[in-house]
Amino acid sequence: MLAQRIQIYGIVQGVGFRPFVARLASRLGVAGDVANKGSFVEIHAQAPEETLRTFREALSAEAPPRSAILRILCHDIPLFATDQIFRIIESEAERGDIFVSPDIATCDLCAQELYDPNNRRYLHPFINCTACGPRLTILEQMPYDRVRTTMKAFPMCPECDREYHSPETRRYDAQPVCCNDCGPRLALFNPKQPGSLVTDNPILMARHELMRGKIIAVKGIGGFHLACNALDENAVQRLRTLKHRPAKPFAVMFRNLDALQKYCHTTPEADKWLTGHQKPIVLLPKRKGTLLAESVAPGNPNVGAFLPYTPLHMLLFDYPPDSEPMTDALVLTSGNQSGAPICRSDEDVRQQLGQFCDLVLTHNRPILLRADDSVMDFLDDVPYMIRRSRGFAPLPFPVDIFVPKTVLGIGGELKNCFCIGKDGLLYLSPYIGDMEDLRSVEALRESLRRMCDLLEAHPTAVACDLHPKYNTTQVAQEMGLPLLPVQHHYAHVLSCMAENNCLDKTIGISFDGTGYGTDKTIWGGEILLCTTSGFQRFAHIPTFPQPGGDASARDGWRIATALLLKYHPDQAERLTEELGLCSSQEQKVIAAMLRTNINTVPSTSAGRLFDAVSALLGICRHSTFEGEAAMALQFAAKETQPPKETALEEFLRALPRRRLAGDSVAALAWQFHWTLAEFALCQALAAREQSHCNTVALTGGVFQNTLLVRMAKQRLEQNGFRVLLHSLVPPNDGGIALGQALYATLNTGE
Ligand code: ZN
Ligand code: ZN
Ligand code: FE
Repeated sequence: MLAQRIQIYGIVQGVGFRPFVARLASRLGVAGDVANKGSFVEIHAQAPEETLRTFREALSAEAPPRSAILRILCHDIPLFATDQIFRIIESEAERGDIFVSPDIATCDLCAQELYDPNNRRYLHPFINCTACGPRLTILEQMPYDRVRTTMKAFPMCPECDREYHSPETRRYDAQPVCCNDCGPRLALFNPKQPGSLVTDNPILMARHELMRGKIIAVKGIGGFHLACNALDENAVQRLRTLKHRPAKPFAVMFRNLDALQKYCHTTPEADKWLTGHQKPIVLLPKRKGTLLAESVAPGNPNVGAFLPYTPLHMLLFDYPPDSEPMTDALVLTSGNQSGAPICRSDEDVRQQLGQFCDLVLTHNRPILLRADDSVMDFLDDVPYMIRRSRGFAPLPFPVDIFVPKTVLGIGGELKNCFCIGKDGLLYLSPYIGDMEDLRSVEALRESLRRMCDLLEAHPTAVACDLHPKYNTTQVAQEMGLPLLPVQHHYAHVLSCMAENNCLDKTIGISFDGTGYGTDKTIWGGEILLCTTSGFQRFAHIPTFPQPGGDASARDGWRIATALLLKYHPDQAERLTEELGLCSSQEQKVIAAMLRTNINTVPSTSAGRLFDAVSALLGICRHSTFEGEAAMALQFAAKETQPPKETALEEFLRALPRRRLAGDSVAALAWQFHWTLAEFALCQALAAREQSHCNTVALTGGVFQNTLLVRMAKQRLEQNGFRVLLHSLVPPNDGGIALGQALYATLNTGE
């Protein structure tokens, strides 16, 4: 007979781990107990030595599908008195590494029960089990137990209580368990008519109204969506008008994978993610000739597609015995005003979405922490994350160093996420939003408090952007902790290094929108020689004057006009006119700004260069959302021969004349990508020559452009470089908090 204490670290809370241990122990005849210890699950086990070994092996081999074991520690302990029964002990809070589970999409078994008329959870919009359901977004505190979730307001009925306490059921110890008798309730109301509440069959009415072209705000897991029929051009157009969002693509939720594949091309890898338990929005090529409304993603060959991940979504598509025809595809876009964080309460909705929607489909289970949908692209069949949030946050990224300290990376100003670094694990938060809006800044403060509580994290230092005027910098300052400003593009590179667990010297190629440089100019096309403690600006794309401050971030024509003045000072006016960039009056204003240096900053931003080239080629003069012009340039590109002018500046100088001479826009667009990739390669070669460093990281928002990443990666690998790419951390500003947190971890004293 042998007794052991077994401690299991990883995602072992809220995934049915303790019941699994109890069932396994009963099966094998192991005595003892199991308890949540906040940061880990602890087992006391007593059995013959052989049995105990089988037990330990089965712990990892048969672990529940949503668990993730990072570490198992095992010690012999003295034999203990036992009545041969294996017990689950109530949770107690203890300190240590904490692994909070992300929210999990409805599992197949629950989906079956949902539509089984003989099941007592038939059509229950909140059905869940130990393998699925909300987690992070309903959690008040660790350890994960019902009393510390927003489900505490819904006492279990006797039947649910029995399942919750019976190890043989799928709901043993499943904290959000509930049913039609005891679960949260749906309601439908008109935000413009007080007292218009409908509680009788709200789903039926919502389906009916969606088919009549109405827009409905629907409460999901991490916030509200705005929903309308994606096959109804008028409804989608109306949503665009109401939301003041002329062109930025909307995501579409499809009834099921079969329906989705009628509208989009998928790959086996994409199918895996679409149907998996995280259910991100996946960018897929649209099929030609489908009935999907053109306004869903105007002028865009791709569409963001995803599948239902809550029972409520499923019921919107299928609600037996209702036989009224229902669309296969719903636009489901974040329910927020431009710039503000996603709405998570009825009050938010009344304040922000009243003008955007006709009805609100809500329920009375509060959302504590916002989590927008994650958005994923693919790079040669490998996930390439655009927005990492629901289903992924707050899974930590481990780095190969154990540093017993807690730090915070506050993140950037756009696409903000923050990152808590604790004992060598970097926990990237859900997506918060753009910090130009003070409501988002408030959401940042609130989420920050909540995540620190959940992870029992007390940061001792905080890293922020170098930009002195960022709102995030101010939030960081308020904390009264030692402050570490980290240059924006260096943070991008560190983020890529952290994701790849590469802490050695790296040549960072950071092609990005805008970041504040150490010389107070605008950076964004940087080749940086980086270590984890600092960087040297090795090279950058040729400096150009960026006129008009923030306006030029949306107006590619302004930078295009400035480029013409730089490269063709004598013919700038004529070329500007022939290329149709702007009026001669506007051209004169830009020329005067450049001449007098008023409201003009030297810039090396690769993002702005993309905008300018997009304008020069007549593809997009003005962006209505960030990245529009650059995306359009990417979509326009058709593979051709490399250009004669291989140097970036030569190419830029020749571009206007070649366009006016009638060269194909598609070819020029492709050649611009090629030239930029070639530029990256040349600089990397020179940096290797000087530093003997052979590792290159490709990062920054411009590298969302998969055409450019592929070209750069291929050219670099052909030249013997080891290329680090992002995958589950976005290359854009959503990832920089990870780099900041890594920096703070390695560069603060005790
Ligand atoms: Zn389930
Ligand atoms: Zn119940
Ligand atoms: Fe950036």
